[in-house]
Amino acid sequence: MSSNTESGAAPLGHVRIVLVGTTHPGNIGATARAMKVMGLSALHLVAPARFPCAEATARAAGADDILARANVHTHLEEALSGVRTVYGTTARERHIDWPAQSPREAAAAIAADGEDVAIVFGRERSGLTNEELDRCQRAIHIPTSATFRSLNLAQAVQICAYELRLAHAAGAPAAVREGRDPPAAAAELEGLRAHTLAVMEAVGYYDPAQPKLLERRLQRLFNRAGLLHSESQILRGFLAAIEQRMSRDD
Ligand code: SAH
Repeated sequence: MSSNTESGAAPLGHVRIVLVGTTHPGNIGATARAMKVMGLSALHLVAPARFPCAEATARAAGADDILARANVHTHLEEALSGVRTVYGTTARERHIDWPAQSPREAAAAIAADGEDVAIVFGRERSGLTNEELDRCQRAIHIPTSATFRSLNLAQAVQICAYELRLAHAAGAPAAVREGRDPPAAAAELEGLRAHTLAVMEAVGYYDPAQPKLLERRLQRLFNRAGLLHSESQILRGFLAAIEQRMSRDD
């Protein structure tokens, strides 16, 4: 199956939320709302106790289009058809051999993934079975109090959906992804740092005889800022304009 099968052009359209064995229809409705508000739309239900249901629609609070398009399956495997990476959510910190990721760590990888991804949520009382978790390549655990670990199902979906939203918003703009405006190269950053220091010296802010921490801090700042080529060009242009004005004033 091709990638992003459910997506069209939607930015998080490659992410499907899978609820397994949900008992309370209200949680299905609240999940639809939690998804829609963060820009997710693909909801898959595996053997829900009651669906469709007026209580689900009421709790969806306007996200009933997501309920109307929800795919209902008998088995988890059907809900995962066409998906490359499956994340299982668990109220427990470790699942058998591998540590669970936080929603933030997982969301960064999911938002950047070009293929379809599923995030699977378990039953209100008992979560996912070990067999269901074994079907997941990765586990997500929402950090909680050590003595009270279990969130309401729809609230767990909300936290994961919010992190996906943040990760998506932090993602590179189209011009960067398409290579029209690449990140500034190391040599560009070095040129910017040297040029900034030269202008700082010219205006009397920086004394190369007493460098202190300024040089390193500036380097750290430019490295951390993740400047694009175009942004580094703006700063270089600004520095050049200062130099020009100073030479005219002399
Ligand atoms: N007693 C169950 C809790 C189920 S809560 C258990 O031990 O697993 C219902 C569902 O909400 C879980 O299956 C999971 O999908 C989600 N959930 C609840 N708390 C969570 C947490 N701290 N981290 C990740 N998912 C959680």
